Amino acid sequence: MIVLKAKYELELMRHAGHIVGMVLDAMRDAVKPGVSTAELNDLAEKIIAREGAKPAFKGYAGFPATICASINTEMVHGIPSRKRVLKESDIVSVDVGSIYKGWYGDAAITLPVGKISPDAQRLLDVTKGSLEAGIANAVAGGHLGDISAAVQNYVESNGFAVIREYTGHGIGRKLHEDPQVLNYGRPGTGVRLRPGMTIAIEPMVSAGSYETRVLEDGWTVVIADGSLSAHFEHTIAITENGPEIFTK
Ligand code: MG
Repeated sequence: MIVLKAKYELELMRHAGHIVGMVLDAMRDAVKPGVSTAELNDLAEKIIAREGAKPAFKGYAGFPATICASINTEMVHGIPSRKRVLKESDIVSVDVGSIYKGWYGDAAITLPVGKISPDAQRLLDVTKGSLEAGIANAVAGGHLGDISAAVQNYVESNGFAVIREYTGHGIGRKLHEDPQVLNYGRPGTGVRLRPGMTIAIEPMVSAGSYETRVLEDGWTVVIADGSLSAHFEHTIAITENGPEIFTK
């Protein structure tokens, strides 16, 4: 069941999203060679607490941290650690969620560590572009499949692969609500998009094959063939006036 949100509920989600946006801004400044993913986690936790919110991922299905930090071929759900120190030319995906007065925000970004290869930069640009293409299609009166198809077309026309096994999702009073937001599909299919729907669109893209596997820690998802991967995500609302991004 898809829960439509009222104006005052959207206002609370806007605030939860804004806090997530602040954390990702701080990550842009903090990510550099020599920094551990645990330090990034500490910084995220501090900002979320300062803003009167709670981390959405900590304790979710037993996840132990505030952010997911996934380096290079790690795609999502990497566990921050003092032992994982960022190196020049790495790329690191940071995914973070907040809960503000019971409402969720969720977003992710993949950042370069120092100077990265042109190929890695292109992967980041294409993944970010595919998120923007998806959001541009999150229009009332359209279909959910319009978003999925836009993401897939953008990624594949740029020569990369979109992950099948993990998807975006509805979001609101829960981190994961209906509907599932696939990163592949056909335009004109799926449910109709209506004002008051709130979803997290999150393309996960591989420079090689789209097959993934989970490491022995039970969390970290990697690309099966070891290729680089990137992940960008925003929480958005569908409104009468077009898509509104909450996690800027
Ligand atoms: Mg998400």
